[in-house]
Amino acid sequence: MTTIARNLQDVRERIATACQLAGRGVQDVTLLAVSKTFGPDAVRAAYDAGQRAFGENYVQEGVSKIAALADLPGMQWHCIGPLQSNKTRPVAEHFDWVHTVDRLKIAERLSAQRPPARGPLNVCIQVNIDGGPTKSGVAPAEALTLARAVAALPHLALRGLMTIPDPAADVEAARALHARAKALLNELNAAGLRLDTLSMGMSADLEAAIAAGSTLVRVGSAIFGPRAPQEPGSV
Ligand SMILES: *Cc1c(COP(=O)(O)O)cnc(C)c1O
Repeated sequence: MTTIARNLQDVRERIATACQLAGRGVQDVTLLAVSKTFGPDAVRAAYDAGQRAFGENYVQEGVSKIAALADLPGMQWHCIGPLQSNKTRPVAEHFDWVHTVDRLKIAERLSAQRPPARGPLNVCIQVNIDGGPTKSGVAPAEALTLARAVAALPHLALRGLMTIPDPAADVEAARALHARAKALLNELNAAGLRLDTLSMGMSADLEAAIAAGSTLVRVGSAIFGPRAPQEPGSV
């Protein structure tokens, strides 16, 4: 068994335990394997261990990995990095999901550039849930307006919300941030949207995120190991 296969098994067990503690079904939580900075061979090893959904942060890196792994049936590619408007086309053409929509202009470009034959691009709206000043994401108070506009675009399927909370001081603080994201999802659904996805939780906080209602955890280092530091500004 490869290290990646063993790590995947450990992460799946963590997810199962967290679901059990939360009284949730394990099928309610999707594991997204975040493969940024790791090569196609690492993704192949995870694929061979049954993993199908992969997340990439950097558009060029993601697109070349998608091409290198085009022989693998059933792959699902998620773009989880910040998205500039001049980079939307390759994302619309090659990815299945985008988690980081935080303004209408990006969503409009993704919809216009999505090849209709590929079906709608699944998107989440990134919410700056803890109000950190340097972070991307729409303010919670603006999420409903943006969600309504995105939901109206023809070649997108608005699926839910995504958050990257700053590392919290303690477990209770992390729980409060996760709960705020879940409450916002509920508010948007009460306002008439039909959102089934809460993309929240990473290697370090997936248990707390699942306890709060996350439906998709984005896990990188716990599966692939530590990452080499990225060049600043690489996208
Ligand atoms: C890198 C990254 C992850 C994975 O983080 P780990 O701590 O390695 O699990 C999840 N989400 C986003 C948006 C990321 O950039």
